[in-house]
Amino acid sequence: ESSDRSEKQVSGAEIIAQALKTQDVAYMFGIVGIPVTEIAVAAQKLGITYVGMRNEQAACYAASAIGYLTGRPGVCLVVSGPGLIHTLGGMANANMNCWPLIVIGGSSERRQEMMGAFQEFPQVEACRLYSKFSARPSSIECIPSIIEKAVRSSIYGRPGPCYVDIPADFVNFQVNVNSVKYVECCMPPPVSMAETSAVYMAASVIRNARQPLLIIGKGAAYAHAEEALRKLVEQCKLPFLPTPMGKGVIPDNHPNCVAAARSRALQFADVIVLFGARLNWILHFGLPPRYQPDVKFIQVDICAEELGNNVKPAVILLGDINAITKQLLEQFDKTPWQYPPESSWWQTLREKMKINKAASKELASQKSLPMNYYTVFYHVQEQLPRDCFVVSEGANTMDIGRTVIQNYLPRHRLDAGTFGTMGVGLGFAIAAAIVAKDRNPGQRVICVEGDSAFGFSGMEVETICRYNLPIILLVVNNNGIYQGFDADSWKEMLKFGDSTAVAPPFCLLPNSHYEQVMTAFGGKGYFVQTPEELQKSLKQSLADTTKPSLINIMIEPQSARKTQDTSLGNGEAVHSYE
Ligand code: ADP
Ligand code: MG
Repeated sequence: ESSDRSEKQVSGAEIIAQALKTQDVAYMFGIVGIPVTEIAVAAQKLGITYVGMRNEQAACYAASAIGYLTGRPGVCLVVSGPGLIHTLGGMANANMNCWPLIVIGGSSERRQEMMGAFQEFPQVEACRLYSKFSARPSSIECIPSIIEKAVRSSIYGRPGPCYVDIPADFVNFQVNVNSVKYVECCMPPPVSMAETSAVYMAASVIRNARQPLLIIGKGAAYAHAEEALRKLVEQCKLPFLPTPMGKGVIPDNHPNCVAAARSRALQFADVIVLFGARLNWILHFGLPPRYQPDVKFIQVDICAEELGNNVKPAVILLGDINAITKQLLEQFDKTPWQYPPESSWWQTLREKMKINKAASKELASQKSLPMNYYTVFYHVQEQLPRDCFVVSEGANTMDIGRTVIQNYLPRHRLDAGTFGTMGVGLGFAIAAAIVAKDRNPGQRVICVEGDSAFGFSGMEVETICRYNLPIILLVVNNNGIYQGFDADSWKEMLKFGDSTAVAPPFCLLPNSHYEQVMTAFGGKGYFVQTPEELQKSLKQSLADTTKPSLINIMIEPQSARKTQDTSLGNGEAVHSYE
């Protein structure tokens, strides 16, 4: 580390920023402080968009959503110790979702290591459990190669988070500009195809299916397989079912979408092709009683270790979903085939869809006040622009909302995901709004939150207002977690005054005016209790493209999903409107 005065000097912070820029990283979210402030400033100088958040967890959720939406990892920049620890929730969520992400954590000075330095913590070790790669560059000069490896690792193979640790003493240290070699931008992720014999076998299993079903997961969304999958569905006339974030890869209103008959489709299919969807809790592990005991699974995934989890697949297609779907299409081009549209399987599915849609419509049309979930989502769905991002979280809010609110575009739905993480909504919405601003100005982001879910990252409303992101937040408010009490019952309960009369754990304060969180920072706030008020406030919010708004929607505190479905548990999508 020479300091030849005749040569230009460059700081550790500037090297980090330049290395990220060289790897095509465009977005950084974080909270500055000692020792990372200079890194954010240097990144901003180079044209990397920096978004300052209010909690590292939300910053990390936002950065991870960037990876899913753009295929290039976003960066989460945080301070040492507690800052880094707060990001672990975001890293774990990204890891579970298989989303690329780079976390850069400042850490205490090397010469104070093991001495009880300010915010000292074994950060590289702490991150290992939540990442594909976790390392500290051994010198300032090797920062670029470590950052290249982190970015490359995050997007190659199964995507995921990577961690780079930056000791405080690296940040402002100056080195001779010539001593730093920037590693060229890594190549795009390699695209691998499945074995020809396996593709042939898969096509033959599909041809011989009596009751086939395609399941489209968020892996297919990430793989940009929308065009090929749509071709496959339409050419072979196959029924398909999206997973929660697989929604929109093929539009929800496509005639072959059987989301409204989800349980039926899963239960009686004899051949299921999984395109980037794991047989975890969301898909009930692929096991009876939710499936036929002898159902044949064809698994398409980029991760070899995933294949064979929970079931023995009939055929394994290891590789990229988009490439493999095209391989399958080749087979069906060579020997054209289509599933008979008048089969009894299609009849069963159509009948079930009709019944489920009618049941939801019936609930949506109920005039009683407070409103139920279905009424709320029905009115929201009516007004949503086709191309909007839909972010959603909360238990009932997310589960029921998903069945009514439609997605027409791939990678336009973000929710609690594989890990069932609550608190992701505002970070995801901010990321989506930032991407929209750069790529498709005017495109809206609708964030549908339960009142409990909103609480986890509610202060990010300030972030939304500071950056003037025209996000529309809907807080579907039932005064509690799963359910709550109305104001009168609540008062009654506390009036008893006996020492056993305590608020039940699931309760939140009735009639909380969450919209005032928005007005506090200059956005628009609405408190609505009727369908008319909801319609009007949503219309106004959509018309105003310059300002964020929050619509606090009071619903029946005991409102629940359709009774016939209560036993089905989280992750169910039994109905799709229209
Ligand atoms: P969902 O929650 O929608 O069911 P999961 O997150 O369970 O989806 O599954 C996504 C799967 O997609 C993961 O197993 C991941 O390895 C896989 N995947 C991600 N990208 C690709 C790709 N380009 N090609 C093939 N598989 C992919
Ligand atoms: Mg609630």
